[in-house]
Amino acid sequence: MNDDDRDDYRRGPGPTTATKPAANQPPPKPEPLPQHLTPTAIAACPDCDNHGYCGTTVCDHQDHQTAAKRGMAAIRAQMGWKAPERTTT
Ligand SMILES: [Zn+2]
Repeated sequence: MNDDDRDDYRRGPGPTTATKPAANQPPPKPEPLPQHLTPTAIAACPDCDNHGYCGTTVCDHQDHQTAAKRGMAAIRAQMGWKAPERTTT
């Protein structure tokens, strides 16, 4: 490899033929929001804040507690564990 080849590598492939759309084209329509990001879905969800976040996670507006409890119960049954005792303070 000589120095000219290296310079070509650093410069990259150069300008491509597919550049900007023509000026007389209308701007592309914005993509519709995914369902879980719509203001209606966020407002209807009791779990997330006004921006659709549960803490630091984007909320999918699904209640996962039922599935989680069912899964832990199945694990406890399989492993022979007792359910944790709830203490009231
Ligand atoms: Zn939510």
